[in-house]
Amino acid sequence: MTDPTNPASPTNPAGPADSTGHAGPAEPTGPAGPAGAAPALTEQVAARFAAARLWAAHRAPYLAGALFALTPVVLEPSFDDATGEPVPDSEFRAFPADTRWNVHVETATALATPVEEIGWWLLHQIGHLVRAHAARSPVRSAHANTHAAGEAGSAQARRWNQAADAEINDDLEAEGLHGPAGVVSPALLGLPPNRTAEEYVPMLDVLDEALGRGGVALAEAVDCGSATDGLDRGYHSPGSDGGIGELERELLERSIAAGIQERAAARSDVPLGWRRWAEERLRPTVDWRALLGSLIRRGVSSAAGRVDFDRRRPSRRAGATPGIVMPAMVSPAPSVAVVVDTSGSILRPVLDGLVAEITGILNRAAGPRRRIRVICCDLVAHPAQEIRRAGDMVLTGGGGTDMRAGIAAAVALRPRPDLVIVMTDGLTPWPERRPPAQVVVCLVGEDGHAPAWAATVRVPEKPEKPEKEE
Ligand SMILES: [Zn+2]
Repeated sequence: MTDPTNPASPTNPAGPADSTGHAGPAEPTGPAGPAGAAPALTEQVAARFAAARLWAAHRAPYLAGALFALTPVVLEPSFDDATGEPVPDSEFRAFPADTRWNVHVETATALATPVEEIGWWLLHQIGHLVRAHAARSPVRSAHANTHAAGEAGSAQARRWNQAADAEINDDLEAEGLHGPAGVVSPALLGLPPNRTAEEYVPMLDVLDEALGRGGVALAEAVDCGSATDGLDRGYHSPGSDGGIGELERELLERSIAAGIQERAAARSDVPLGWRRWAEERLRPTVDWRALLGSLIRRGVSSAAGRVDFDRRRPSRRAGATPGIVMPAMVSPAPSVAVVVDTSGSILRPVLDGLVAEITGILNRAAGPRRRIRVICCDLVAHPAQEIRRAGDMVLTGGGGTDMRAGIAAAVALRPRPDLVIVMTDGLTPWPERRPPAQVVVCLVGEDGHAPAWAATVRVPEKPEKPEKEE
């Protein structure tokens, strides 16, 4: 059984960071462990891992954040009985990752693998992780969550691993980052590039059968770990909460994707495959209507929380549904203003659809027959209109965008709105500080951004089928 050992500090190797050879026995920094030579080996492995990560970060700077989010789990080697030398274990050739961004570094394998090759595997494993190969894995659901090596189904697991590798490796190859001999390469196999693992599976099946008739193997069997197929491995430490959790992963991936988009916008070199990934990763996955509804309801109820309840008549319906706060209990209805970017970049049907959505949400959350104040804004804020439904809105304005003017006009309204909803493509300056009202930004399209102090929901820029207005 291999125990993960905790290197003193994997990110601060004892040896020079750019060393490409063995770091040499490091000066012992603490009392020697009971394992004798093991601490020195562990330090060498930590130094090698750090050097490999730096190499990879130089080759793919757009993935530096991802590389430094990987947690190395160093596994003790087995030793040759005769020579006493550590023996590399081919099961760990790919430095297998798990979905918590742990990378399993088997000591003898790490010491026998060139730094550049370790660095290549780290980039490769990030590919498995951010492309959610474990969640997409067809074998994950087919088995009782264990890696059934040698049993029925493992052929399917191997095929999935190869197909997932093909999806990753063509992007790496496009950057001149060629993998070690024997790994799956769409180019070398004559397969089209830029396909998904799901698309590569049947292609590899056909190819494997053809090659097999000639007695040729498609590729060497490489096990990239549970980050690829979602199946537990025996070497995972039981109940380990090492690495990073679901929320951190979500935030990490979004920040990697945002970083890639910033680099691409600044005309920095980012390969096409990674730009596509970032685009897709940042595309809204949740239903924007549900998110907008929850943000507005939250804004409404927290605004209502500021009122003096004693002077309000309790709702006749209060208590009818235990656990549900009835609208009348949270009255007076909060005041809402909508700032509409009328610079012309957003289609009228999209604006109308959004206003209809907002009036619908407010009617449900704070009672019907609500008036909303709307401020059209291009470079300046136009006079506020009171509307009941989208059709009442008169769009004024045209050239230029400065939502600072619209937000300033909204918070200057009397009574001051508790909630300001801004509908914009986000290609605008924003106030540097949080305005004195809650702000929800409906960000239309993929190009713009919203400030950190606002709650933001991304909305598709194409008009959708019209919603029934309430
Ligand atoms: Zn792989």
